[in-house]
Amino acid sequence: METNKHKKMHGKTVFITGGLSGIGHSCALASAKEGAHIVIADLKNDGVEVVLAEIRKHSSQAVFIPCDVSVNTQVQAAIHETLNLFGGIDVALNNAGIGGEPAKVGEMTEQNWLKVIGVNLNGVFNCMRYELVQMAKLNQGIIINMASILGRVGFANSAHYVAAKHGVIGLTQTAALEYAEKGIRINAICPGFIVTPLLDKAGITENSDSHTFIENLHPMKRLGTADEIAQAFMFLASEESSFITGTCLEVDGGYLAQ
Ligand code: NAD
Repeated sequence: METNKHKKMHGKTVFITGGLSGIGHSCALASAKEGAHIVIADLKNDGVEVVLAEIRKHSSQAVFIPCDVSVNTQVQAAIHETLNLFGGIDVALNNAGIGGEPAKVGEMTEQNWLKVIGVNLNGVFNCMRYELVQMAKLNQGIIINMASILGRVGFANSAHYVAAKHGVIGLTQTAALEYAEKGIRINAICPGFIVTPLLDKAGITENSDSHTFIENLHPMKRLGTADEIAQAFMFLASEESSFITGTCLEVDGGYLAQ
């Protein structure tokens, strides 16, 4: 383990939902490399020890708390445990998300709709309400919500996902207004399509036709990497973005500029 008091996030507690995989995992590693204590709240997963060992190479403190973000009481318990362990949350990344089953609106089952809204929108709300109570007590804190380009525009066969991500942006902007005077900054990141297991689950695998189709939707003609999103996260989590709140940082290879 490396120690260095001059690292940008030395001693800060970073709470990350969905930190075992993909974008959340890259953000956890990036903050650990800058000296942060990492709390990963995620569904139970066989790979927990491997991920924790990797993070602990950089940070003295890395814990996993099993948590389904769509269940309010589990989120409350995870935040409570984080406060018991570290005394506060400096940075929260509300990132856990799922793709859902593709379907047109007229053919979408209620179960499919509710599942995606439950994780991707209610999950972010569940986290924010408990994070904000704690941050408001200390008049400080940074919240970053993982939205999507699909929080800005539509995408066929994904109404549940698109509606949830539009909701996350609305939630971000509104909470930013409510807590700006308290010194709490709340922003979102809108990634374009990023190479992670989430895309694999959606069948968008390397060299497939759908992969090529999706690549071509981005002016840069490629997908992004989880590390490129982690760089945006590190900016929003740092003092370098001290006058930025209520915004959505688009990291999308030009997708939304079209
Ligand atoms: P991923 O599948 O690699 O990781 C998602 C993580 O969230 C996993 O560790 C999973 O276990 C966890 N998770 C899922 N449901 C959960 C729940 N109910 N409670 C707690 N944890 C849960 O996916 P990713 O691509 O890294 O996605 C991370 C976020 O980024 C999601 O919100 C996703 O919508 C968003 N996003 C992804 C892309 C992309 O193209 N990959 C693009 C834009 C936005």
